[in-house]
Amino acid sequence: MQHIIIGAGPAGVVAAETLRKTDPDADIAIIGDEPEPPYSRMAIPYYLIDNVKEEGTYLRDPKKHFKDRNIEVVQSRVDKVDTKKREVTLADGKKRKYDKLLIATGSHPVSPPIPGLDLPQVHSCWTLEDARNIIKLARDGSSVVLIGAGFIGCIILEALVGRGVRLAVVETGNRMVPRMLDDKAGGLLEAWCKTKGIDVHTSCTVEGIEAAGKDEVKVSLSDGSELVAALVITATGVKANIDLLDGTDIKTDDGILVDRRMQTSNPDVYAAGDVAQGVDFSTGEYQVQAIQPTAVDHGRIAALNMAGHGEEHQGTLNMNVLDTVGLISVSFGLWMGVDGGDTASLYNADEFEYINLQFDGDRLVGASAVGKTQHVGILRGLIETEVDLGEWKERLMKNPTQVMEAYLACTQELGYS
Ligand SMILES: Cc1cc2nc3c(=O)[nH]c(=O)nc-3n(C[C@H](O)[C@H](O)[C@H](O)COP(=O)(O)OP(=O)(O)OC[C@H]3O[C@@H](n4cnc5c(N)ncnc54)[C@H](O)[C@@H]3O)c2cc1C
Repeated sequence: MQHIIIGAGPAGVVAAETLRKTDPDADIAIIGDEPEPPYSRMAIPYYLIDNVKEEGTYLRDPKKHFKDRNIEVVQSRVDKVDTKKREVTLADGKKRKYDKLLIATGSHPVSPPIPGLDLPQVHSCWTLEDARNIIKLARDGSSVVLIGAGFIGCIILEALVGRGVRLAVVETGNRMVPRMLDDKAGGLLEAWCKTKGIDVHTSCTVEGIEAAGKDEVKVSLSDGSELVAALVITATGVKANIDLLDGTDIKTDDGILVDRRMQTSNPDVYAAGDVAQGVDFSTGEYQVQAIQPTAVDHGRIAALNMAGHGEEHQGTLNMNVLDTVGLISVSFGLWMGVDGGDTASLYNADEFEYINLQFDGDRLVGASAVGKTQHVGILRGLIETEVDLGEWKERLMKNPTQVMEAYLACTQELGYS
């Protein structure tokens, strides 16, 4: 059996390892187009603040791990997939045959058409190469503009503050992390950042970037401000890497459409990670969920099915946890609520604390919180166990901080804890 995996990120690596465990005699090759050994983008913020060296971002020991498991790692771009001939074409024109193929190509950053994005002071923060460029320009005391305060933007923000830069953040939405936090929580985050000396511009867009002297650029904003910076970082969204599938029978939407076995519309081709539209735990719908735990889950399940084991994906809970200069914010599941559902919340702006619970009937289906780290695991547990809260629903409606008590009372009855 010849298994080919395109993409050497967490989804591809975990898939290769799972295949090796389940199919000891198979030929397994991972083909990845980045020059470094397989690494984790999640570790880039730690690299930016020198908490780890570049090697610390590597997913596995590149000298031994893959060789010991007889997994071939090929450094090349796959330009084309031919599902009729069951082969892939590499950038140098070489072709490789497969019996089962996994697409784990992730996504790439995209930006709105802002004039000046091609200037040498402008970078995204997606790859190790981006990180090296950022390290060169984000020096202690230098001015940096971050475009986009979404999940990735806020992760980078923390690292930039750690580098001692003077930071301005520009976000089109009316609040920070608008796809993860509601108005109140996003507002708290913005207020917190301002207390830390970060210049936050929400409901604002960048209209243009132009050279200003030898090493700096001027960034013009829609609120009339002009910011001079040594570095501009774009964190304005990503798009799935699906171009290599042009002309094939593999169906795509925002990402590659898969079923619960991570199988695409072609029975010999699977997809996993940021590139796949996998099933969501809360809704049962299929959507791209671009976080590493989901990529790992996808990779494992895809591999089991490639090796002939009928494993089904139960769906990943939408889950985001952010540490923004010391303030923890989280959201889980249907944090924005459901039609006809009930909401309980507690808000303390002075203490930067917020908790918001979303119920569907007697079940907790979503939650968000700021500054309340002690509740993180419990909120997730209450949603994932889908426990019927009974009388605890009313108690939580009155006091949403009693989630620990509710969890213990309700799950002990069911024998979970
Ligand atoms: C700065 C940063 C911080 C992050 N922090 C977190 C975090 O705290 N928590 C979290 O859960 N997630 C985080 N993420 C997101 C997380 O990194 C991704 O969800 C995860 O990397 C997805 O894994 P993947 O294997 O699907 O894709 P990727 O890791 O993107 O790997 C895909 C690989 O395929 C390669 N490839 C693409 N096209 C081709 C081709 N045609 N031929 C060959 N190779 C190809 C790509 O170059 C890439 O190397 C962060 C991301 C970034 C950028």
